[in-house]
Amino acid sequence: MKKQFAIIGLGRFGGSVAETLHAKGYEVLAIDKNPNHVQDIARFVTHVIEADSTDENALQEIGIRNFDVVVVAIGEDIQASIMTTLLLKELGVAKVVVKAQNNLHGKVLEKIGADKVVYPERDMGTRLVHSLISPNILEY
Ligand code: ATP
Repeated sequence: MKKQFAIIGLGRFGGSVAETLHAKGYEVLAIDKNPNHVQDIARFVTHVIEADSTDENALQEIGIRNFDVVVVAIGEDIQASIMTTLLLKELGVAKVVVKAQNNLHGKVLEKIGADKVVYPERDMGTRLVHSLISPNILEY
């Protein structure tokens, strides 16, 4: 059976992750507390739910522990990102991937049990440099 994904936080990063996974044929539940963001992504994913991910009852009602992977893509609100990650691990989600704003945020996420921490802006910068200096790239 194919993995089932839930994406919490539908900004540019979370929205892109959700849409790309769905386009690749996976079941994707997209969650955001902002009704506009939920509405905007609805036709690009399998299911959408408007909910605050720092609300333990809401996460339980969603049945979040049944998802194979949950991606937390909440950016600016570091407190919400941390609380959400903690709740997801406490509720028994097997794999929690979290976007970090900075190194300290990332360290906290690792300490509370995040299975993978990603730094999209930093990682993209590194990848760009690799592609710029790769011998395979055409020089103009
Ligand atoms: P990006 O760079 O990916 O656009 P960002 O890093 O600026 O995003 P935010 O815009 O702060 O991140 O958050 C991303 C999304 O997370 C927003 O759509 C926001 O509504 C949602 N979000 C923030 N807090 C919560 C929460 N507690 N529950 C659910 N969604 C939340």
